[in-house]
Amino acid sequence: MERLVVTRGAISPERRRRLLQLIFLFVNLSLVEAHLPGPLWLAIGGIFWMALVGISVAGSSLVCGTMCWIGTIQDIFEPLARPRFRLDARLGRAVTFTLLVLWMPIGWLIRPELATHDRTPLDAAFAWQHHFFQFGLAALVAASVAFLGKRGICRYLCPFNDVVATVRRLVRARRTQPASTASTASASCAGCAGCAGKTTDASAHLERLISR
Ligand code: SF4
Repeated sequence: MERLVVTRGAISPERRRRLLQLIFLFVNLSLVEAHLPGPLWLAIGGIFWMALVGISVAGSSLVCGTMCWIGTIQDIFEPLARPRFRLDARLGRAVTFTLLVLWMPIGWLIRPELATHDRTPLDAAFAWQHHFFQFGLAALVAASVAFLGKRGICRYLCPFNDVVATVRRLVRARRTQPASTASTASASCAGCAGCAGKTTDASAHLERLISR
């Protein structure tokens, strides 16, 4: 009897994932900065994102399946998904990656005083009324499914899984490299990953998420 009650009361894995998605959505949106971040927040964010890449390289789908607010909003609005446009996914993700790398240095060049502040979104001074920017972003992501389809941003614009795939290939290439050639090769390796094959398990991983 007790076992029956426990079974009835148990939350299904899918519901648990949805619940976690909502919690991460709130936390992530609270931390989205409407201002150009300073070095402190860049360092915190950099370490955080490197950790996320690391767990994804290890095979976890936690980031794209549960933690990412952009993925969550697309999932919530999935009933409205209509793939009206097809973009060049490789180009779209490359452009996004370039923008993500360059926007902060360019911003700091334009506004040098921002390159030295130590403000973070965790500061109490940042009140909710200063964060309408976050709701605008969330609305854009929600609207995207009506044009790009289910997980369209993930497919066409987000470079995260490309980064994961590149790191994974580099790790594998390093592991499979014969010990006798390792030192010679690493001396001449420019880190272009061109030797690491053409298929990306990131694409396969994304397809699994999209078809779920
Ligand atoms: S592919 Fe990018 S946008 Fe989509 S869930 Fe993963 S990290 Fe988020």
